[in-house]
This record gives sequence, C-alpha cells and structure tokens, in this order.
Amino acid sequence: MTIPTLNLNDGNQIPQLGYGVFKVPPADTERAVSEAFEVGYRHIDTAAIYGNEEGVGAAIAASGLARGDLFVTTKLWNDRHHDEEPRAAIRESLDKLGLDSVDLYLVHWPTPAKDDYVHAWEKMVELREAGLTRSIGVSNHLVPHLERIVAATGVVPAVNQIELHPAYQQREITEWAASNDVKIESWGPLGQGKYDLFGAEPVAAAAEAHGKTPAQAVLRWHLQKGFIVFPKSVRRERLEENLDVFDFELTSDEIAAIDAMDPGDGSGRVSAHPDEVN
Ligand code: NAD
Repeated sequence: MTIPTLNLNDGNQIPQLGYGVFKVPPADTERAVSEAFEVGYRHIDTAAIYGNEEGVGAAIAASGLARGDLFVTTKLWNDRHHDEEPRAAIRESLDKLGLDSVDLYLVHWPTPAKDDYVHAWEKMVELREAGLTRSIGVSNHLVPHLERIVAATGVVPAVNQIELHPAYQQREITEWAASNDVKIESWGPLGQGKYDLFGAEPVAAAAEAHGKTPAQAVLRWHLQKGFIVFPKSVRRERLEENLDVFDFELTSDEIAAIDAMDPGDGSGRVSAHPDEVN
C-alpha cells in the first residue's frame, strides 16, 4: 500500500495521511507509534505540548526505518514565540525526538492577544535556513494572521493545520490556502468523537455504498478534498482501519452531500477558537 504524497510550496513532499499523537499518554507513545510504523504509517504529527516527543523518538530509534522514509512534524508552543525562544524550543524537541532536523515545524497557535506571532514566524524562517527543519508552517492561523506573516516576511507557510471536519469546514481559510499554495492539514478530522459524525446520513450512506466504515468514508472525504490528515487512535485495529482508505473513491455526489453538512455559521466547531487561545 502506497500513501500518496503532496507537493509543498517549498519543493518538499508530505505523505497525505499520517498518525497524530495528541493525547497519546507519554508512557504509551513508544508502543503506539511503533505499532503505527508496523502497520505502515510513516508520517507522525506531534507537538512539544503533547509531552510525548520522547516516546515518538524512542519508536523512531527502535524502528530501523531510514530517516528519509519518515516525515516528522512537531510544533512550537505558545509561550516560546519571543526573542530567541523558538530556536531553544526546536533544539529541545529535536533532542527528545533524537533527530537532527524535523520535516515540518509549526507555530502551534497565533496567540493574537500577545501579538508575537509575526516575530515567531520570522524566527521560523531562520530555523529553516539553519537546517533544523526542512519545511515551516503554521497551525490555527486565521486569514488575517496569514496575511500579516506573509506581508512581514514574504514567506508563505507550507501548511496551515486547522480544526476541520464535515460540520466545520473552514471555507474562508481553505479558499485562501488554495489561492496561495498552502496545504491544509485537518486536525480533529473525525470531529474528535464529539458529535455523531458517523451516524450522519451522508457519511453512513457513503460508507455503506463502498463497504467501508464511516470513519473511512470521512477520511476519504478529507483526502479527496486535498487535505492532509492524521487521525489519532491507540488501538491497532483502528490504526489499520484508518490507513485502509486507498482502495475506493467517493463519488462527486457523495462528496457534495458531506460538503453540505457544515451549517455555515461556525456552530460545528468542537474545540478552541484561535482568538481565544493566548
Ligand atoms: P480525531 O478527529 O482524529 O479523533 C480522535 C478520536 O477518534 C479518538 O478518540 C479515537 O478514539 C477516535 N477514532 C479514531 N479512529 C477511529 C475509527 N476508525 N473509528 C472510530 N473512532 C475512531 O481528533 P484528534 O486526535 O484531536 O486529531 C488528530 C490529530 O490532529 C491529533 O492527534 C494531533 O496530531 C492533531 N491536532 C492538532 C491540533 C492543533 O491545535 N494543531 C489540535 C488537535 C489535534
């Protein structure tokens, strides 16, 4: 099974499906990531704040996989945007991961009340130039944040990782991203289990029509929309299920029916709004 890759705007490539380890307990992370490697995942999404970079690093070290076959993302936490803190932070992350560089480093949240995300982005550009990360991007950035960092530096982030699932499709950001060659990474792609996504008629019908599970139908929707996904689970059978999404295709009608699940007023959001995280 080959996981498709997407081209980033800096010439690098990213596997379109990976494994996210938010809330994977540190003590469980080496086992979970090792299992993910065994079943075929090669792209891991972690963050300094998840507290489990050491477990990811232990699994990488034990895997015997070539560095070039892996794609590792981690993120700069909110209290380290200022001064030279981004450089100190990535060095700590690399130490925990046991790597010389990551494939993608993200500013985790813009924290707009602190007004230091432009500085953080300037430092990210330096970290890429220093070879500590191959690509740089952002997470939870709204269009005004994106416009400001691009105007200040001329550097367009490779990705924006945002909450995105059928009830909350973030059309303003995805349209901006499409016109500026920024890839969207959907976090919470399964709605974090916080609403009845799998029982929703368009999802259940698409799953039934293709002999797949509702989770697989939703992941397929993300992939066909061009989004990058890394669903989280600590159960091997679900890791396998979430990877087994490359042998079917949703029809344009099925995609359109899932597209219509967003009420359009922002009420489908299940987690924090970027303006509220500071
Ligand atoms: P998710 O939508 O992936 O949901 C995870 C939940 O879905 C888990 O509790 C799991 O039990 C369930 N699940 C997984 N596979 C399933 C399946 N096949 N069938 C039924 N249930 C299944 O939510 P998430 O973990 O929050 O998001 C995925 C990743 O996105 C995270 O692990 C993390 O890497 C990233 N993330 C980033 C941010 C950010 O601010 N940048 C925030 C949250 C998550």
